[in-house]
Amino acid sequence: MKKRFSTFLLLIISLSCLAFLQNNWLIEQQEGYSIYYGKSEKQNIKEYIQLFTNGKEQVEQFFKTPFSSEFNVYIHPTRTSLDSTWQKDWNIPGLRSQCWMVASGVASRVDIISPKKWDSLACEHSFTNTVKTQRLITHELVHVYHGQRNLSPDFSDVNGIDWFVEGLAVYASGQLDSDRLRRLHDFLSANEPPSQLVDFWKGDNKYGLAGSVVKYIDQKYGREKLIGLLRFNKLDELLKSLGTSENEFVLEWKDTMLGK
Ligand SMILES: [Zn+2]
Repeated sequence: MKKRFSTFLLLIISLSCLAFLQNNWLIEQQEGYSIYYGKSEKQNIKEYIQLFTNGKEQVEQFFKTPFSSEFNVYIHPTRTSLDSTWQKDWNIPGLRSQCWMVASGVASRVDIISPKKWDSLACEHSFTNTVKTQRLITHELVHVYHGQRNLSPDFSDVNGIDWFVEGLAVYASGQLDSDRLRRLHDFLSANEPPSQLVDFWKGDNKYGLAGSVVKYIDQKYGREKLIGLLRFNKLDELLKSLGTSENEFVLEWKDTMLGK
């Protein structure tokens, strides 16, 4: 009995040490952000800093002003580490992320699985595709920038604007590339698009659909107007600011996409 108890105690102590080590982040302070990473990432961190610094510059160029506050980047060494952060931050105990999910961004932070481990810890992403890797990181940084100007900095209190949050990140990061636009055009030539914006960030064409709507806002209303929309967390306020209705807006976007 005594032996069993001491084994149990040893197990508890080991688990506590493990938990401590898991949270034992190393920190590099950069201009405008801090990057947190584990010991095992030491040899990758220079490359990661370059990707985040490039992304930060791209975002600031797109929006023409700097981030309004500093933020943190967490490089997670395992999917379990990412999941435990999301469980806590999103208040979903037991959350298990899907294999294509590798990162998230809100006003104060980016959480990301160590990009060099995507090939083994994720699906649909490969670190070696440098253009796509940079765009994905820039995409998350657009969320950070957006969150810093939104009435709901962590996007937990938003209503009907998923298409705008994601479409903005797709468009401003360069993910709306010619390949995606061509696929969207093929889709629209043969199918009816969704009639409601809430359905634009759904299905196989969600990047093309949501990204192209934000591009349409940028081209029709201008960059200043687009930037002015960052603060809204509700669809009706956003549409009111554009002076349009959902129906009219979607129809005009569709006509523009089909070159009418
Ligand atoms: Zn996103």
